[in-house]
Amino acid sequence: MEPMADDVIIYLDNNATTQLDPAVIEEMLPFLTNHYGNPSSGYTFAAKARNAVDLARERLAALLECEPSEIVFTSCGTESNNAAINSALQFEPRGKHIVTSAVEHSAVLRHCEDLLKRGCDVTFLGVDRDGNLDLAELEQAIRPETAIVSTMWANNETGVLFPVEKIAEICREKGVLFHTDAVQAAGKIPIRLRDTTINFLSLSAHKFHGPKGVGALYVNRRTRFHPLVVGGGQENGRRGGTENVASIVGLGKAAERAAECMPEEKTHVRAMRDRFEKGILETVSGASINGAAAARLPNTSSFLFDGIESSAALLLLDRHHICCSAGSACRTGSEEASHVLRAMNPSGDGARRGLRFSFGRFNSESQIDRAIEIVPTVIEKLRQLSAPARESAPIGQEPAGIAPDA
Ligand code: PLP
Repeated sequence: MEPMADDVIIYLDNNATTQLDPAVIEEMLPFLTNHYGNPSSGYTFAAKARNAVDLARERLAALLECEPSEIVFTSCGTESNNAAINSALQFEPRGKHIVTSAVEHSAVLRHCEDLLKRGCDVTFLGVDRDGNLDLAELEQAIRPETAIVSTMWANNETGVLFPVEKIAEICREKGVLFHTDAVQAAGKIPIRLRDTTINFLSLSAHKFHGPKGVGALYVNRRTRFHPLVVGGGQENGRRGGTENVASIVGLGKAAERAAECMPEEKTHVRAMRDRFEKGILETVSGASINGAAAARLPNTSSFLFDGIESSAALLLLDRHHICCSAGSACRTGSEEASHVLRAMNPSGDGARRGLRFSFGRFNSESQIDRAIEIVPTVIEKLRQLSAPARESAPIGQEPAGIAPDA
């Protein structure tokens, strides 16, 4: 195997976003150039765009094993999450209560916090040390006035999977709607909606080698839906606004590619991730994996390293051209420590010591070799730098270069 040049980017942040698949770009290009018709126009020229949107819907429905009519295209995963929760609140006359978890992405958490300020009641369920929910606690949290339960399928920081099919079943028995934020699960693990009682599911194309700024919401055909974006009646009246045709085409192709690649990636990406974890655990003392005992996505490694600050590690890794993150990409540059790691261990200081590495279709074995070489040297260097400083300065006041998130 060819050794890698020192300045080649090693992209290990596939949960933040992914590289576009070349096949996706190829399918999108004609819709950015020649086929610019509006899908709602009646003439033949626009039929190309209309048919392409229909094909994308079929391809995504095939990936999710649902009906094409159950897919609503949106602008992103965040919009899909907001739309599902808002729709449930609109329709449920008793709807003054939401059940969710403390480890959701901000696309659900912030929305729920906002609703809380507007008079809605929200239960944020905790998780155990491995990031698992207690299903008995979830069941007990459902009240007569609960409008919806919303829990993610796969955690973006740790990759921990929630048993959403079981949760959906509990909700059905209790007569409550269930939404799952599957932004990190879609395209990475099999999803068979036909066999579930899930009412709503959100996803986003850029997490599985599609374009940014396009997502979808699955709405079960028996579930009533009130649109979040009201306008020209597109998407069968479920989402107003002229369709982002090229991006929807890209989403559809990315879904088709995900279905094709999943059997291969399930073993290949997992093997790379497992080799990386083994390599780091063998060479770095005081390292552990968050959610190690839980069911996890095959592509995600969330590490805790004793004696480091994640933000300092990110700076040093960046100098070595390794892209990874401290928890979620959305938190990079903020002062906040990881709410997910804090929920998993409220009394520990792990929330500022986490590093997330996430792997994908375009990573190579030589990139993993290089990362296994660099990460231990970076951790060692940080520990050496911070040892004297830690003795004299409280956390948060370390010398420049190893400062916490800013
Ligand atoms: N939900 C989860 C679990 C995510 O990881 C993300 C993105 O990181 C989102 C929602 C938001 O998706 P989008 O960037 O498409 O709005």
